[in-house]
Amino acid sequence: MDFKQIISHCKEYGFIFQSSEIYDGLSAVYDYGPNGVELKNNIKSFWWKSMVQMHQNIVGLDTAIFMHPKTWKASGHVDAFNDPLIDNKDSKKRYRADVLVEDYIAKVEGKLNKEIKKAQKRFGDDFDEAQYRATNSRVVGYQEKMDTIAERLGTAMTDGNLEDIKALIEELEIACPVSGSKNWTDVRQFNLMFNTQLGNIAGEEGKLYLRPETAQGIFVNFLNVQKSTRQKIPFGIAQIGKAFRNEIVARQFIFRMREFEQMEMQFFVRPGEEMKYYEYWKETRMKWHHSIGTPAEKLRFHDHDNLAHYANAAVDIQFDFPFGFKELEGIHSRTDFDLSQHQELSGRKLQYFDPELNENYVPYVVETSIGCDRMFLAALSNALQEETVPDAKGNESTRTVLKLHPAIAPVKCAVLPLLKNKEELTKAATDVYDQLKPHFLTQYDDKDAIGRRYRRQDAIGTPYCVTVDFDTLEDNTVTIRYRDSLKQERIRIEDLKATIAGKLI
Ligand code: ATP
Repeated sequence: MDFKQIISHCKEYGFIFQSSEIYDGLSAVYDYGPNGVELKNNIKSFWWKSMVQMHQNIVGLDTAIFMHPKTWKASGHVDAFNDPLIDNKDSKKRYRADVLVEDYIAKVEGKLNKEIKKAQKRFGDDFDEAQYRATNSRVVGYQEKMDTIAERLGTAMTDGNLEDIKALIEELEIACPVSGSKNWTDVRQFNLMFNTQLGNIAGEEGKLYLRPETAQGIFVNFLNVQKSTRQKIPFGIAQIGKAFRNEIVARQFIFRMREFEQMEMQFFVRPGEEMKYYEYWKETRMKWHHSIGTPAEKLRFHDHDNLAHYANAAVDIQFDFPFGFKELEGIHSRTDFDLSQHQELSGRKLQYFDPELNENYVPYVVETSIGCDRMFLAALSNALQEETVPDAKGNESTRTVLKLHPAIAPVKCAVLPLLKNKEELTKAATDVYDQLKPHFLTQYDDKDAIGRRYRRQDAIGTPYCVTVDFDTLEDNTVTIRYRDSLKQERIRIEDLKATIAGKLI
């Protein structure tokens, strides 16, 4: 489905609304509707379980959004959490200068992929993609072009060389997508943190920031957690919470928001052992994405061309969004940068005594950081499909279906009496509903013909529909219909709960 259809599906079925819509909305801020909040909570709980419940050496935390302003000085965000900004003088539109260049690279990649596809068609089964990439002069040319631009952009970003980013935009003759003109301003730095005032304290003294990442709440609590839980290194701290960034350009729906939610885990390790855990978490996180139902071909690793000020290795897990492969999650080896900085600015020791080495040190950190909203968009855009299926009479009909993994589907089960105006059926169906509702989110629906009720449940991703009919009154069995296969089975009411629960993991 295309991106527009996904967005309108989200609104129509109560997944996502624009914030303050009656006032024409607030740019890049969104609200989650009744089905959206369920899906989002399920994603969070799937992540939390995989981190905290499944790892004896990972514990949870929930820290405040406001933190002492020195936190952000220490972390480097006050001085370095900037994006390069550029304006087009004709359209007056504002862009992230690095994204303009990245989009250019993506266009070249599109051309390269086209060449590969063409060759694949031409050579059929004999096609050797690796060899073609290495030898076809046009493909090699595209690849070299992409690599050269990416490397130059990476260096310019790391060095904060704004002039060179501008030069790159001019040399590549990048035009404004709105005006088509190449009349650009200089590139300037723009700090992404929102700020506000503490109580009635005016000026710099009372300046507070809304956290741009949840990680710092974990760093400043490192010793509190370690001492109160008596964890030994290596161990991790996980947190889910809101973060805020004053993004320069906020497009692409919930992909880039100004208020969003992160699921982060900082893993504290011995200095020198960070690369081992970096590799471990890279693989573990990729497996998690597979286990939540995302197909492997829609995911890929992408090494950072320019490292953030705190990292000595960093990789993104990218997902094939409706607008191309983009970052879904980051895995970063953050060294001892944050803890050392907090130690220096607070004057408090943030060290760990390692009983095996008989030595104090500031631990190194490997972090996994995923945006909950981006995961939501990835799951939804992957699952939403239109397909042709036989209807009750065996004729072809189309249905819109959300093939979410049952564990994250908003509603797990719908209980449907075959007919609405037969009291014995509605009573039996209400009994089934009452039996299931304490265990998982269940809906009772008796409006419209059964086929239309199935379609409504398909559209919100309900994996199991249970139909109560006249046979139910005779033998205490119901029909369970599976969303993806459309298979229907007769099962006993007493087995329903276990059958459905068993499929939700
Ligand atoms: P990008 O390059 O897309 O701006 P980033 O590299 O700044 O992202 P990180 O600082 O690594 O992102 O943040 C970790 C995760 O938080 C990202 O992988 C993403 O899923 C999520 N995230 C970051 N910024 C936003 C945003 N504005 N809206 C929604 N999710 C976000």
